[in-house]
Amino acid sequence: MPVVARIAPTPSGYLHLGNAANFALNALLAGAEGELLLRIDDLDRARFRPEYLADVFRLLDWLGLRPTQGPEDPADFHAHWRQELRMPQYLDALEHLRGHPAVFACPCSRSDLAGGQHRYGCPTAGIDLDAADVSWRVATDAFSAGIYLPDLVDPAGFRVAVHEEVPDFVIRKKDGTPSYQLACTVDDVLFGVTHVGRGQDLLPSTAAQAILSDLLGYAPLVERITFLHHPLLLAGDGEKLSKSAGAQSAPGLGEGIDREAVFALARGWMAGGE
Ligand SMILES: [Zn+2]
Repeated sequence: MPVVARIAPTPSGYLHLGNAANFALNALLAGAEGELLLRIDDLDRARFRPEYLADVFRLLDWLGLRPTQGPEDPADFHAHWRQELRMPQYLDALEHLRGHPAVFACPCSRSDLAGGQHRYGCPTAGIDLDAADVSWRVATDAFSAGIYLPDLVDPAGFRVAVHEEVPDFVIRKKDGTPSYQLACTVDDVLFGVTHVGRGQDLLPSTAAQAILSDLLGYAPLVERITFLHHPLLLAGDGEKLSKSAGAQSAPGLGEGIDREAVFALARGWMAGGE
């Protein structure tokens, strides 16, 4: 099967060194023979800004990376590649899940869940999926033993406590649009993705997508896709790096950082290093 790796940024802030090393890692996973897909995850239109989109292309240029599939520039992205153009496929997937016993409608907010509201299921069970102001969720209490995810470089793999990490994750938002988990799962099948390098902060998402993949009747996620969950780079103060809303752009990744240093980080992750 041909290798298809993907670079899948969300244009919700200026990219940082961790994103740059992640781009490099996925290029290494594609290798010289494989396809490297650029897939920009822009469903979250509230946080989208054109300068963040431009930053993705600037970072690719700075790294010297040329994806073999996906948009060539922002205009091409808007014309042919934005996720909204795949809305029919996402909505088909949601319709396929309608009526599945694990899928339910829920009026709770994110903060309700953060407060532990769903520990024993939704307190307002049995709402119609077509009721107003409800999201669609997948019940995760059946997975309280966790989900096992094999890893390309870590022989132990990862066990993700999915019910604690992403309790009853959302597949359709209250405005009727698909969630990140739903769109990502559908897109990876549409584009035939075989390799994913992503940060360990996304382990709960991988676990959610593995569950969703099964519900959608796709081949098992971890059999279709080889995952490498890399450690997160920390800032000098030990805090996790985050996308900035400030004026930092790709070549401003940090003091003394050049392209070679970014690829060295990615190669370290390929070798299983911290
Ligand atoms: Zn609820």
